[in-house]
Amino acid sequence: MMMEHGPMKRLFGCVIALLFGTMCPAMAGVINPARIDTLKTQLVIRRPALESVKSLIDSESDPIDTLDTAHEHVKVIIYGDNTWQYYKTPEFMQASGVYDVAWDENGATNPYGTKLEELPATWSIWLVDSLDQYHCPFQGEVHPRGKFGPRRGRRHQGVDLPLHVGDPVHAAFSGRVRISKYWGAFGNLIVIRHENGLETYYAHLSKRNFEAGDWVNAGDVIGLGGSTGRSTGPHLHFETRYQGFAFDPQWLIDFKTGELRHRLFVLKKKYFNIYSNYEQDFEDEIRNEEEDKAEDAERAAMKWHTIRSGDTLSKIARNNGTTVNALCRLNGISPNTTLRIGRKIRVR
Ligand SMILES: [Zn+2]
Repeated sequence: MMMEHGPMKRLFGCVIALLFGTMCPAMAGVINPARIDTLKTQLVIRRPALESVKSLIDSESDPIDTLDTAHEHVKVIIYGDNTWQYYKTPEFMQASGVYDVAWDENGATNPYGTKLEELPATWSIWLVDSLDQYHCPFQGEVHPRGKFGPRRGRRHQGVDLPLHVGDPVHAAFSGRVRISKYWGAFGNLIVIRHENGLETYYAHLSKRNFEAGDWVNAGDVIGLGGSTGRSTGPHLHFETRYQGFAFDPQWLIDFKTGELRHRLFVLKKKYFNIYSNYEQDFEDEIRNEEEDKAEDAERAAMKWHTIRSGDTLSKIARNNGTTVNALCRLNGISPNTTLRIGRKIRVR
């Protein structure tokens, strides 16, 4: 009750202050700007779904007790230093059904086979609720060259967080380990599927503490940092995927502070674009607009010819002021290609 009392009192005070301000116009000029800022802050309506969530605190102590809750499959674990954590039994987590679909422990990054066009434009995902907790996988700075985006002709589909070999790496949320194996460029990789359908990837580990099929709680040390696989130095390569499609993990996590940005995450399909990332999305959207315009202009400038009886490539080239070579390049054909009557070929 104490927690509700304070803000209500303050809110009431603000309303009085605002009324007073309107009733006495002469007073308006003397309210100092700092005071207005204070008023604004106090009038903000709380939106719990959009509030950030602090990383779980690692307890140095061992669990000392387990308490039952109203739900037989949910327990509260109490640690020696009075911190606590929910514990959901595997039966509870299994019931969500997400672990029955496209469960491939042998290592497909997209076991769902979903097509991008089948997904809606936006999708709301609860990251934590009253039972689900969060732990930052590894708190630190994202390496400037380790962001989500294109890199040396490849898709870099996660973030790189430099660390020391042996640093603990934590499960971001509760769930079940889908993949735990040494896998090429990923090195030692653990993939965890969570109840909300998201999957998180932890790569280049020096040690894996869980096997495929194991259940994990948020904060469990799933492995130790390392430099296995395609890696030039010790770091955690961390990915977030939905239906097999990767998006910038920085939409979810502020790795510098370790905080989860919000409880409810609105995933937009455009985030799956490798050019979309949290830090530059606005600029990218502008650039994409320019790219769209350039494509439209290119389409408008295209000219097509429908093959008629008696047409040859050299005749078409001559009539359109171009060369046979240019026609072949534009249409991906060879000079010896048989020209089927009725086929459209691009001449410009
Ligand atoms: Zn990486």
